[in-house]
Amino acid sequence: MNIHEYQTKELLRSYDIPVPEGRMADTDAAAGMIAEEIGGERWVVKAQIHAGGRGKGGGVQLADSVDDVKHHADKLIGTNLITPQTGPEGRHVQRVLVEAAQDIKKEFYLGLIIDRSKQRITIIASESGGMDIEEVAANYPHKVIREAVDPAIGLPAFQCRKIASRIGLTGPLMSQAVKLMQRLYRCFRDKKALMAEINPLAIVGADKLLAVDAKMSFDGNAVHQYPDITAYRDFDEEDPKEVEASGHGLNYIALDGSVGCIVNGAGLAMATMDAITYHKGRPANFLDVGGGASPEKIANAFRIVLKDPNVKVILLNIFAGINRCDWVATGVVQAMQDQHIEEPVVVRLSGTNYEEGQKILKDSGLPFITANDLDDAARKAVEALA
Ligand code: GDP
Ligand code: MN
Repeated sequence: MNIHEYQTKELLRSYDIPVPEGRMADTDAAAGMIAEEIGGERWVVKAQIHAGGRGKGGGVQLADSVDDVKHHADKLIGTNLITPQTGPEGRHVQRVLVEAAQDIKKEFYLGLIIDRSKQRITIIASESGGMDIEEVAANYPHKVIREAVDPAIGLPAFQCRKIASRIGLTGPLMSQAVKLMQRLYRCFRDKKALMAEINPLAIVGADKLLAVDAKMSFDGNAVHQYPDITAYRDFDEEDPKEVEASGHGLNYIALDGSVGCIVNGAGLAMATMDAITYHKGRPANFLDVGGGASPEKIANAFRIVLKDPNVKVILLNIFAGINRCDWVATGVVQAMQDQHIEEPVVVRLSGTNYEEGQKILKDSGLPFITANDLDDAARKAVEALA
């Protein structure tokens, strides 16, 4: 789960990590009021979307009057911002962050990730931070340093000093960097983050380190333990089909193919996707209805899958262990009748009450394509596309 820059900065501030003074606004009037409250002569207006590269896409604007702040806020809010990270469709901007503009002397990169191969939280740092960090990493990998943190020890000051000195931070800047890294690490651990990134971490004014841009993401399966983080969830940034599915207890992930899949269990979902790919088709989604696939759940699954206009055929693959094939079949027949489904539907049922399930499908008189096993089902689904 990703969160916005203004939310990340609020969280960092609560860990005493220095961030610019500022607040979020969802109207130009509010943006102007925030600028007045902050005071000073220069501000920065930043589009809040779950994607980076905003500087390159016009989503970060400097302003030297309150009117200018309002003007930029007005232009950004409601637009579709396209950046190198959004894809051509862009992201809808609903809010901006208004901050005191900083006099930046130098930009560094500081990130925390989980290195799965090392099974360690790993610090990534570079003396060449800012908007071109991706190119730096690709062309000058020696300029990006990595330090794994031993979970039994945590992040001791000496390790932070080592990182700071390798990116050229000395004297008072080094002691600020040590504190900042330790606080960021504590925040990361406390909230079970998956990623934290400060880019740029900047030297501003005479000699102060400041997190000028920040983003974090969290483990969606752990986040319910932290109501403060859960409250940061922005449903507008997520695929509406995925949001609706999670509300019905369905696990739905949108993909870009044309075979809609309704399956129970994540393992079977993945095997089904593999079988479709093997037969040269492409899954449109991953939808796991879980264990207790009631007729209502099946109906919801059909509705959600069919909201994707790319879906040209539906493959229902259910292995009924604790489930019952007759239940599932009843749900499928109901969904077909209530939702006037015109796309071909391939059904493969297996397990408890298999015969009863088949009979319900047959007696309905509906044009199901039935399949005997997973391979047969995937082949028939791909054939139905032609
Ligand atoms: P991103 O492009 O989405 O990562 O957005 P950032 O917040 O990192 O902003 C992009 C760039 O704008 C930064 O690398 C800075 O160079 C610049 N920038 C952001 N805030 C300020 C500011 O307060 N003052 C100045 N001078 N530059 C800023
Ligand atoms: Mn940035």
